[in-house]
Amino acid sequence: MKKLFGLFIITLLLLSSCGSVPLTGRRQVLLVGDQEVLTASLTQYNDYIKSAKISTNQTMTNQVVRVGKKIAAATETYLKSNGLESEIKNFSWEFNSVQSTDVNAFCMPGGKIVVYEGIMKYISSDDELAAVMGHEVAHAVAKHSNERMSQQLMTEYGAAILGTAISGTSQAVQNIAGTVYGLGAQYGVMLPYSRKHEYEADHMGLIFMAIAGYNPQAAITFWQKMAQGKSSGTPEIMSTHPSDTNRIMELQKYLPDAIKYYKNPSSE
Ligand SMILES: [Zn+2]
Repeated sequence: MKKLFGLFIITLLLLSSCGSVPLTGRRQVLLVGDQEVLTASLTQYNDYIKSAKISTNQTMTNQVVRVGKKIAAATETYLKSNGLESEIKNFSWEFNSVQSTDVNAFCMPGGKIVVYEGIMKYISSDDELAAVMGHEVAHAVAKHSNERMSQQLMTEYGAAILGTAISGTSQAVQNIAGTVYGLGAQYGVMLPYSRKHEYEADHMGLIFMAIAGYNPQAAITFWQKMAQGKSSGTPEIMSTHPSDTNRIMELQKYLPDAIKYYKNPSSE
């Protein structure tokens, strides 16, 4: 009986918590409320940024802010023109450059973006940086963290207590956020995204960078450089961001659509 009740609760939760990803339309299960995700990830982010060494490279810092602001504006434009205006309030953008040789970058829910110095050796233009930032912002817009947190909650908590874990104290959500981000650790490496999430972020990122006025072709040249970099020591981003010929082939597929936005940012 208890088991049945648990199943009933989980079915109800799943029914009430289905969402769909902007742009791709993929259905997803989001068990955690936006506000809870934002609160939990903001705690993680604040802890991380307090311990992080902010870059003293002024050229890079300026570039990250310059490109970041355009990507943020383009993302909001996209949301606004697609009936998703209510999502914009979830973003309070920040653009940070951090001292680290790791080849990585990330965007937390809420639009807190961090770019590591290490990735800049693969970036030779604003367009290429826009490819990276567009991709990271796309993870946030698509609520991939919420999806991963929801999966973790379902794995770690039994069906019977799942309802209280989500609706009551957010301790469970805080704990899960800690697992998903792992930002307490010195490197700030998040749990790897699934391949599905990576391709989705690639697709959306291309559109965001194109609306921002950056040439989406640059995403291909960036990932080609990353793939070559593999031979001279595996960059950190490789472990969390699978880069291979398949990825470049997928990007090529989305390119014609993105180029339409690049040439005419107001196009649908
Ligand atoms: Zn990614």
